[in-house]
Amino acid sequence: MDTELLRQYLEFYRDLGIKTVYRPAKSAKGGAPPAETAAAPACELPPVAPVGELPPVAPAGELPHAAATGELPPAAATGESLSQILSDIGDCRRCPLHEQRSKIVFGVGNERSPLVFVGEGPGADEDAQGIPFVGRAGQLLTQMIEGTAKREGIPLLRADIYICNVVKCRPPGNRTPEPDEMEICGQFLFRQLMSIRPKAICALGGTAARALTGHKEGVTKMRGKWFTWRDIPVMVTYHPSYLLRPYNQATAKREAWEDLKKVLHFVYD
Ligand code: URA
Repeated sequence: MDTELLRQYLEFYRDLGIKTVYRPAKSAKGGAPPAETAAAPACELPPVAPVGELPPVAPAGELPHAAATGELPPAAATGESLSQILSDIGDCRRCPLHEQRSKIVFGVGNERSPLVFVGEGPGADEDAQGIPFVGRAGQLLTQMIEGTAKREGIPLLRADIYICNVVKCRPPGNRTPEPDEMEICGQFLFRQLMSIRPKAICALGGTAARALTGHKEGVTKMRGKWFTWRDIPVMVTYHPSYLLRPYNQATAKREAWEDLKKVLHFVYD
């Protein structure tokens, strides 16, 4: 893995709230490290990584997932395709979310899209179909994208863009994904975004916004503003499920429409 890619990985994990990652502890025969060697030297992620520099490598505390696997997740080969990433996911059992899922919901749409929408995690309809944003929230998202584009004179359909989530399996009861679930699944979101390299990302809701940007505010503070994921601009807006709540209809919908206009004009003008 080259230094720049490693730096980007480490920054991404820091943004997900992960403070410590382990370097692989090699066993003599090259197989899984024995338990006692899994406590290998670790890499402490600094609160703010200076751009262009790798965080210092230092012995440090513990991280549940890294302790379990003993290594950093596989690096994205530059130029890898989404189908390679999907095949790496396989019949994923890396985190507890696999236990109750029906289908892995990887992502849908145009692999070369200049715009990627990122939600939180699949709901019941998505879990059943294996496609993100196909339930009520998804129908609203489709209307919002296509309706806003049409009103703004931008010829754009949902199929032209790419949509995925922070976690690929449905959290039971649609709860918010846990930090370790986002950490484990985050490697695949990272690789999807590295593969597509869109011109902009639209984060749907607070969970996606915080996972992508590392900021900790609520969505009402972040929406309508530009952040970055690596060097890619990120627009934050409300999650469509939030807009479906009756008491959020008028103001929040108007604000979401403003946010979408901003991101669509930025990408397609
Ligand atoms: N909510 C999400 O965050 N993602 C989906 O795919 C569906 C609902």
